[in-house]
Amino acid sequence: MTLPLAPLAGGCRDVPVLKQRGQHEVFCGLTGIIWLHRKIQDAFFLVVGSRTCAHLLQSAAGVMIFAQPRFGTAILEETDLAGLADAQAELEREVDRLLSRRGDIRQLFLVGSCPSEVIKLDLARAAERLSAKHAPKVRVLNYSGSGIETTFTEGEDACLAAMVPALPQTDRRQLLLVGALPDVVEDQALDLLMNLGIEDIAVLPARHADSGLALGSNTVFALTQPFLGGTHAALERRGARHIPAPFPFGEEGTTAWLQAVAREFGVDQARFDAVTTAPRARAKKAVAQAAARLTGKSIFFFPDSQLEIPLARFLTRECGMTAIEVGAPYIHRAIVGLDLDLLGHGPTISEGQDVDLQLDRCRAAQPDLTVCGLGLANPLEAEGLPTKWAIELVFTPVHFYEQAGDLAGLFSRPLHRRAALRLEAA
Ligand code: SF4
Repeated sequence: MTLPLAPLAGGCRDVPVLKQRGQHEVFCGLTGIIWLHRKIQDAFFLVVGSRTCAHLLQSAAGVMIFAQPRFGTAILEETDLAGLADAQAELEREVDRLLSRRGDIRQLFLVGSCPSEVIKLDLARAAERLSAKHAPKVRVLNYSGSGIETTFTEGEDACLAAMVPALPQTDRRQLLLVGALPDVVEDQALDLLMNLGIEDIAVLPARHADSGLALGSNTVFALTQPFLGGTHAALERRGARHIPAPFPFGEEGTTAWLQAVAREFGVDQARFDAVTTAPRARAKKAVAQAAARLTGKSIFFFPDSQLEIPLARFLTRECGMTAIEVGAPYIHRAIVGLDLDLLGHGPTISEGQDVDLQLDRCRAAQPDLTVCGLGLANPLEAEGLPTKWAIELVFTPVHFYEQAGDLAGLFSRPLHRRAALRLEAA
């Protein structure tokens, strides 16, 4: 019999949160384009930004070569930035050129950047005008990927939130899965849910514009990523209802997430157990293997991906680690509250960042593993502190049962590498 997870009496939901504001180290929201353009297969992401933005995209995308690239940068030149040219008219000409060349594009996202925000380029107005001009073939939307005051996962949140108001209305009773997962992981989740008997399932973002995605007050939605605060609010504004659940990381998190959905749809326990027993056993075994190196080790999270709280829950409960500090850029209790309930009392929970003060705390604690952004990883490694890049957690398939062992492996590998280097040096 599978029992729902009970919140820990000493969970972290109500512990005082250390809130700090100061210099912070994060990647900007343009990064999300790297995984979103693969997911939404008929979309084009046009960043309206500077050469810096173009370089960031290029280096984040690595050396991928596309016959038909599905993202690009409309470069704002100095004359645009100085207000000497009509950037709005030039952008609209650029979009017309792009759409006349590329008949495969069905959704075009104008992505704002720091420079476009500084000169207050009105991308919402441009998107509205261009949408009216190119409808019904192409829908033009806009969102901000600017790095001012944002984290890299907020790009996906802003993109999905921008899609919600344009979706058609439906009265269907349906489950909406929200979050861009790799196709193979999304298919696994859909299989599990369909085997539970839930038939009407939609996914945001859909892979194609003509997927028939619609929503309304009979839609209930389950988030697969904890950084979708804006999308959560946009869906609620459309009348959809959130199914609160711990996030599907690890065996326990996946079971709790599925249980929350199963309860909503009245799935009986026998069916739930029949569907989940075998993958649960596989996930437990895979986590146990990878976690052998993690048990008893300490971990410190710098705020970066917004995955920190659910991951700390997974690593402490399923891998035997001790969390020293769990830093998150923002803490949405409506979204990560159940993960906080399951996270044992002990770590400092911090929100926001003053990076120098946080580095001091990290150095004083000397954790066995530190999860942080690229900018902090190298200096910490040089000081002898093993690190894990937070961004890898978004680029790697880590959700649901079949990836649970790989998720634990992402954290055990840096420790393994460090131990191997010590052996070689001895
Ligand atoms: Fe462009 Fe701003 Fe990101 Fe830099 S931080 S790449 S200027 S959007």
